[in-house]
Amino acid sequence: MSLVDDRALRARPLRRGAWLVIVAAALVFAGLAATGALAGSYALAGFAIVAAAALVAMRIGQTAARISPVLAASERGGDPLHAIVSGLPDPVIALDRDGRVVALNEPARVLAPALRQGEPVTLALRMPELTEAIDRACTRGEQQRVEYSERVPLDRWFEAVAMPVKRTPDARSPDLVLLTFRDLTPLRRVEEMRADFVANASHELRTPLAALSGFIETLQGPAREDVKARERFLAIMQEQARRMARLIDDLLSLSRIELNAHRRPDAPVDLIPIVRQVVDGLQTLARDRGVTIEIAADDALMVLGDRDELVRLFENLVENALKYGAPGKRVDVKLSRGTAANGQAEAVASVRDYGPGIAPEHMPRLTERFYRVDVRESRAQGGTGLGLALVKHILNRHRGRLSIESAPGEGATFRVHLPIAMPRPSP
Ligand code: ADP
Repeated sequence: MSLVDDRALRARPLRRGAWLVIVAAALVFAGLAATGALAGSYALAGFAIVAAAALVAMRIGQTAARISPVLAASERGGDPLHAIVSGLPDPVIALDRDGRVVALNEPARVLAPALRQGEPVTLALRMPELTEAIDRACTRGEQQRVEYSERVPLDRWFEAVAMPVKRTPDARSPDLVLLTFRDLTPLRRVEEMRADFVANASHELRTPLAALSGFIETLQGPAREDVKARERFLAIMQEQARRMARLIDDLLSLSRIELNAHRRPDAPVDLIPIVRQVVDGLQTLARDRGVTIEIAADDALMVLGDRDELVRLFENLVENALKYGAPGKRVDVKLSRGTAANGQAEAVASVRDYGPGIAPEHMPRLTERFYRVDVRESRAQGGTGLGLALVKHILNRHRGRLSIESAPGEGATFRVHLPIAMPRPSP
């Protein structure tokens, strides 16, 4: 039996009852008028009132019968369907066979705020793929899966599953469709980022490789006998080979750190000797650039960390300050204790240069892989575009964070925040 037949059956007794009342009223009022107990006009008016009341009651009854049994049961309250749908963590909407919302949970309300119980789902979710999937689930009685995207206000991707459900095991056709949603946006973004990353890494490697092949051809051909040109080309080739090696080194470091991202380092290390070692190692570069590095530090600053990764982190920050902040002639490195927003003690290490600084529009993207303010300058300085991405990943693994302060013409401060290691309780 279809839902339409079912409604017709439920409406039939209502109609019969109304007509019985009208016929009975006609007989009574006619009798009263005939016996003279009631004036003819009064009898007619009385009959009209009773007949109108019966017709109105019939109409109301028919409207109530038109509401699906599922919806009616649900609106009466106490329906376990509500409790089940509300308890699910993903967006879920239960629909009757006409596509009207019977029950929905909070995540579904967040997904489509226009959804209303008792109203067609298509008023709030207007994707044709979705509507078709609901129809198919109803007519075929089989689960339907669709992916769709929204463009406004942001690009988002979803997977929706329309599952037909029979609430009574012996029912011939499903009386409900359960619509569940999964947000595919983070997954898509990761896929896009991975594709971008591979494209960027290949491009970065292809450029020095093309330069190397070009010079090899020149040395084998036109410059074969030219000693001066050979020396010059070999120096350029060496630089390109170094650039490729640096890039591969950074890529390997990134993937190693990512692999270990879930394992927080647990060895207590003092940040101060680490920073001093990094600064000593970069003195030659500092001299070449005419920059002096000043260190101001407390006595000891213990954190739980991976020594090699922390060396890498400070190398990147101090080297960047020397490369991009050189015109300021000075770099300040400060290490001190601070307090995090949650009240916990933290180690704060800042690297400040007095160079040209960074425009605000670049700041949020600096830690993205291969993002550079000026690609040409970064390459000229031997940069790979991966340094700050490495810094960010190392800090994530150490449960720390990076903050950047800068304004054009006023230099830049890169500040590292790491939780202070609590002394182990004595046994
Ligand atoms: P790179 O290998 O290019 O140095 P990084 O990830 O270390 O890559 O830095 C990304 C970009 O951020 C750099 O190319 C540069 O444009 C900018 N940058 C980093 N540090 C500084 C700084 N101290 N002053 C100005 N710009 C900086």
